[in-house]
Amino acid sequence: MERLRADCERCAGLCCVALPFARSADFAVDKPAGKRCGNLTDENRCAIHARLRVSGFTGCSVFDCYGAGQRVTAREETVSGPQLFAVFRVTRQLHELLWLLTEAARGGRCPEAEASAAELDALIDGDVAALLAADVEAWRARVGPILERVSERARAGLDGRDLRRGDLTGKHLRKARLRGATLRGALLLAADLRGADLRQVDFLGADLRDADLRGADLSEALFLTQPQLNAAHGDSATRIPDTLARPGHWPDHDSPPSAPAPVRRAKAPRARGAGGRGGSGKGRRGRGR
Ligand code: SF4
Repeated sequence: MERLRADCERCAGLCCVALPFARSADFAVDKPAGKRCGNLTDENRCAIHARLRVSGFTGCSVFDCYGAGQRVTAREETVSGPQLFAVFRVTRQLHELLWLLTEAARGGRCPEAEASAAELDALIDGDVAALLAADVEAWRARVGPILERVSERARAGLDGRDLRRGDLTGKHLRKARLRGATLRGALLLAADLRGADLRQVDFLGADLRDADLRGADLSEALFLTQPQLNAAHGDSATRIPDTLARPGHWPDHDSPPSAPAPVRRAKAPRARGAGGRGGSGKGRRGRGR
């Protein structure tokens, strides 16, 4: 999974130029696609990286390019200008699917996922015109059933609840035993999941913004992504999959039981398809540069 991790040191700041974002709770300003963010330095570094959240750019702290930035930057000699940004926008979406397929294929548990990942890799590295013409939605539709089969196998025998696409916004699920459940496409905004058992829970496309994961066990969660984790709140007692990084805004200590719940946010639209909220913007995703 290493090559699917964002490496800003090897990227030309592509997400800060190529992607659009809209003024909202996640972004302090509007920015169209292709325009440099005003906070991007001449060295392609974020001038406010250490204070993104307090500066109104929470969306940037949540975003992750799944390694698309460094992969596309490496093509700079043959692709440039607006075309480079277009390549990044497509590659970023395909890299999210690559991440999910790579997780599905881990340990040789799904040759079908492995073959699809290899096909995606060839598309990304191949002819630029073919890459730009890629039908990302068709890829999502193709990847979804593969992930579903892997999820069913991984959760078999655990008798987990089917909560897919459920609206669990603000629900009190503290210490809930959800092992083996499917939360695909579920809305978990500001849900209280403190101390919950979330092992083998399928999180594909679930919205975890401001969900309280302090002390929860997600160590064997399925199809959980870095942006989902970045959007939630946790602490040092939160157990996460070894493929993901602990978000920088999480405290490095256990939270006292009486600690206040995280800030609540507005309800969002439902997720769709593999990867949930695909799209070529920066909204509701984030990055740490
Ligand atoms: S991380 Fe966000 S705020 Fe910082 S330069 Fe990039 S787009 Fe701008």
